[in-house]
Amino acid sequence: MSDAAVISARGARRWLGGHPWIFKSDVVRPPAGPAGGAPVTDPSGRPLGVALWSPTSEISLRFVSRQMDAALDQAWWRERLAAALARRAELLDAGTNACRLVHGEGDGLPSLVVDRYDRWLVVQLLSAGLEAFRAPVITALGELTGAEGILARNDVSVRAREGLPRAVELLSGAVPETVEVREHGVRYLAAPHTGQKTGAFLDQREARLLAGTVSRGRALDLFSYHGSFALHLATRADHVRAVDSSAAALARAAENAALNGRTNIECVEADAFDFLRDEERAGARYETIVLDPPAFAKNRASISGALRGYREINRRAMRLLAPGGFLYTASCSYHVGKDDFLGMLGLAAGESGRRMILRAVTGQPTDHPEVLTIPETGYLKGALVEAGTD
Ligand code: SAH
Repeated sequence: MSDAAVISARGARRWLGGHPWIFKSDVVRPPAGPAGGAPVTDPSGRPLGVALWSPTSEISLRFVSRQMDAALDQAWWRERLAAALARRAELLDAGTNACRLVHGEGDGLPSLVVDRYDRWLVVQLLSAGLEAFRAPVITALGELTGAEGILARNDVSVRAREGLPRAVELLSGAVPETVEVREHGVRYLAAPHTGQKTGAFLDQREARLLAGTVSRGRALDLFSYHGSFALHLATRADHVRAVDSSAAALARAAENAALNGRTNIECVEADAFDFLRDEERAGARYETIVLDPPAFAKNRASISGALRGYREINRRAMRLLAPGGFLYTASCSYHVGKDDFLGMLGLAAGESGRRMILRAVTGQPTDHPEVLTIPETGYLKGALVEAGTD
């Protein structure tokens, strides 16, 4: 393998230990060619497999196969994608028409995200090495799913670090501005071209179902976005207040409420921190509360500030709970781990002066698979807690 790239012994250990990323500092001899597939060996020439090569990225190589002769041709991509799709077959039969089909490294397809919204796909190609295989990936996805249109939401900042342009591009067919998502008896509109992520927060699907099943009385959905938690809460609660700081997000939430014929959802434009403080002062009580904030910790340096923020909203939400009431609370910050999250909840509970019972700890749904040796594939954690009656 004289033309293979060479990585350090440390890099090789990382891959053999189950993590596919090789950083620039572990590349001893970079691949000869442009961005694309590259065979890789360790310093002694031992074959390690084939990786996607990103010449300008800090993550230089992302392994995709242990086979040195993996062709990365149309058939190879098709087989890898088919395996990812097969993993979701049961999910799509069971109450929803939208789910993640490919969760990057979680599906052995580094830097590729594919979400299905009914008959349409939204993809993200997040590395230069993967971008080089755009044609076979998109062709195989079209063939395997029969999608009527494929949209690339490549307007994300990680593309800049890969030296790639940022843009929303239609790759095949046509994709409507809004797609109606069915989710366990609730319907909402996803916005593939303009919405957050790829158009909706598919990763909270199972949590929304869980929150809906315990919902009753007066309910609160904080950081509501398009109101998808609120819609589930409204199936059992008398009244739901959907709170978000974005008027545009709430306009869509109101549209979604109407789509479901719900008249018990009230949209409130407010900062969630201020809203919680004001409600606490006013002595308000809620039987059901959902806290699904954006990632407060965007990087390692902001972890302690983020934990203070999470602790404050959770403490306040706990104080607002009626005896026997339920709080579903989540964090999507990758940098705040499961232990940090549960530790923060314990502190918030202590400060709330209430007896809080942990009823369930939740993670990512099955279409967002986490690989045990790749921490970056997991970011979402949540908990269902119940306020004691004494
Ligand atoms: N729960 C939603 C996703 C929430 S995304 C779902 O399941 O689909 C986070 C939302 O928080 C965004 O809509 C954003 O507008 C809102 N947001 C961010 N900071 C906020 C703040 N300080 N107060 C209220 N809403 C905020």
